[in-house]
Amino acid sequence: MNGNTYNMINVTKTFFPPIEDYQKQLQRIWDNQWLTNNGELYKEFSQKLKEHLGVNHIIPMTNGTLPIQIALNALANGGEVITTPFSYVATTATIVWEKCTPVFVDIHPEYLTIDETKIEAAITDKTTAILATHVYGNPCAVEVIEAIAKKHKLKVIYDAAHCFGVTYKGQSIFNYGDVSTCSFHATKLFHTGEGGALFCQDESTRQEMFYRHNFGHDGPEKYHGLGLNAKMSELQAAMGLSVLPYMKHIITERKRVCDYYDAHLDFSQLNKLKLREHTDWNYSYYPVIFKTEKELLKVKARLENQNINPRRYFYPSLEELPYVSSENCQIAKDIAARVLCLPLNIELSNKQVSLIIKLINYD
Ligand SMILES: *Cc1c(COP(=O)(O)O)cnc(C)c1O
Repeated sequence: MNGNTYNMINVTKTFFPPIEDYQKQLQRIWDNQWLTNNGELYKEFSQKLKEHLGVNHIIPMTNGTLPIQIALNALANGGEVITTPFSYVATTATIVWEKCTPVFVDIHPEYLTIDETKIEAAITDKTTAILATHVYGNPCAVEVIEAIAKKHKLKVIYDAAHCFGVTYKGQSIFNYGDVSTCSFHATKLFHTGEGGALFCQDESTRQEMFYRHNFGHDGPEKYHGLGLNAKMSELQAAMGLSVLPYMKHIITERKRVCDYYDAHLDFSQLNKLKLREHTDWNYSYYPVIFKTEKELLKVKARLENQNINPRRYFYPSLEELPYVSSENCQIAKDIAARVLCLPLNIELSNKQVSLIIKLINYD
């Protein structure tokens, strides 16, 4: 690291709550002398999140990858899992890690979520589940996917890592699918440093998932079944309780930056994400799609030259990972080569955003 890092503008910047807020929560942990396993802060955090998001059931976990793994372990049964090539690597890696087989279905060219009209053609007698990503917080076609799943008796898991606070048709997007998951990683919209959560719709699913995330324990001397450790600690809950009160402010400020981009970027040269109808979005990312990869690389270099670091989210397309066999998803491959996420955080001034825009629009 050099001394200039404070001058850098990165694609994300972690929100740090006032340190006094965090210290107040830490004091409670010290008073309780309790660091993990269903502690007071964990319980309060679960309850507050449930109310904040309006979800049915929540299990906070230690990151956003383990809840996907746990859901696949419980629901996909080592079968073929229909999935999207346009997501973060965790979406595919968890499928392979759970000894299931990813079957990639191409994405919609504007919504960038899995193309629901192509799912049925990919179903075989080995298919057990669909794992789709609400990419950039943009919901998949959840009703169509639910109907397909019902017809073919498949489970639906949504990687909703980007979806904190997103609602679709007036309710939390986490209330769709058999299971939805979220990430509370430091780079995400809402964070606990490392962290995440699993959401589900009924008590019996919650029980199954809860056992799995705590070694399968059913009391100290009895085991319900196979499990691992995905528990969220009191230290993570302390960060969550400190960040949560600022979410309204964070979303307002991110909206300001997005609105500025919307108003001033030259959209004759770029495409932007098309949000699904009936979505109340969370301003989690600002992706733009260039006409060519060459154009993207030119603009990226120009920005980097000024210490501005956008990121190629999501590149490459996941079907190109070395441990899966390629299915040739042409649209995902093409979009992945041309999409760039622009800097988006609450500290960006309009002046800084203006500079970024100038560097992009300039030809
Ligand atoms: C961040 C992310 C994850 C992983 O979450 P972690 O909390 O980092 O484990 C999974 N899927 C997607 C789409 C993500 O962006």
